[in-house]
Amino acid sequence: AEDTVTVALGERSYDILIGDGLIHRAGAEVAARLPGARAVIITDENVAGLHLAALRESLADAGIENEVLTVAPGEASKSFSVYQDLVGHVLEARLERGDVVVALGGGVVGDLAGFVAATVRRGMQFVQVPTTLLAQVDSSVGGKTGINAPQGKNLVGAFYQPALVVADTASLSTLPPRQFASGYAEVAKYGLIDDPKFFGWLERDREAVFAGGQARISAIATSCKAKARVVAADEREGGVRALLNLGHTFGHALEGATGFSDRLFHGEGVAVGMCQAFRFSVRMGLCSPGDADRVEAHLKAAGLPTRISDIPGDVLAVERLMTLIAQDKKVTRGTLTFVLARGIGKSFIARDIAADDVAAFLVE
Ligand code: NAD
Ligand code: ZN
Repeated sequence: AEDTVTVALGERSYDILIGDGLIHRAGAEVAARLPGARAVIITDENVAGLHLAALRESLADAGIENEVLTVAPGEASKSFSVYQDLVGHVLEARLERGDVVVALGGGVVGDLAGFVAATVRRGMQFVQVPTTLLAQVDSSVGGKTGINAPQGKNLVGAFYQPALVVADTASLSTLPPRQFASGYAEVAKYGLIDDPKFFGWLERDREAVFAGGQARISAIATSCKAKARVVAADEREGGVRALLNLGHTFGHALEGATGFSDRLFHGEGVAVGMCQAFRFSVRMGLCSPGDADRVEAHLKAAGLPTRISDIPGDVLAVERLMTLIAQDKKVTRGTLTFVLARGIGKSFIARDIAADDVAAFLVE
């Protein structure tokens, strides 16, 4: 069983193929879309040891010459120096504009390889083979690519759409459970934004989604469709795309406060952040306490942290969090913009939230 989600962006569109074992067909799918292209695969050391052989074999079987560039795993590889290194290798390999950069890995590899593809020779072909749940439901959809600057995360980059995304759901079976749960926070997010039926289904079938098979494929396809819909409506993030930031204002502040370390993965920060967004919505009289409880119970059952006190290590100071929130969102005259909720599947962009109200909420 497979699913295909087509991301339509003006006259351009591309397919996201979702299914078990698709990595073995990646070569044929690439060859069908980019005849004659040579490939350079960019991956990280962890993924290289697990899934690279299958991808190379599939490319070779489809007659696609390929070589491999491997980076160290982790956020630190989204750097100017690693980027520069990769660009050098791609140029030395004499790859042309019509040739393809294939990203094999999680969001780090996807963002980095995508930025290489976007910039070398003003744009080469780009194909994503995402291998984390986060990458399959979030970072591989939407065309954001980039690296980190010393001044902050994701500050240098480009909007650049791939020619194809091959999401092999079987590749997630080697993912550490904590990484899977972290990506799952983004899956639940799509239900919480505007799809209460999907959230209800996740409440009933969460275990099946974690186990793999058809439920997992469906959850990923529904997530990709949700993101593709929002991105198609708002490719460059002027309006509705901001809804995808549900839980992310609080989440980013928490990630910042924990130094973007292994103490808190991105999706874990988002899980706590979504619970805070719902509880804050209750406090503002927007949402029923029962809905906030459902959100918390679901994420907790998925093995995610839901409160600041669930984060290991020092308790985070409210003043520090507020500073980080202010940096993230730019306080205008003491007010902030947040994604809040009138209930499950009823999220909206709330402007003019008083920073004092947020601070008071955080000390509760
Ligand atoms: P990641 O790429 O660091 O992967 C997490 C870990 O899992 C790494 O250690 C990796 O080596 C390992 N791994 C990957 N696939 C594996 C597999 N199948 N089996 C075993 N181990 C595997 O992290 P991530 O969570 O996938 O992505 C985070 C990054 O994505 C961040 O840099 C974030 O900024 C970016 N991001 C981008 C977008 C976007 O729209 N472009 C959206 C969300 C996040
Ligand atoms: Zn996110």
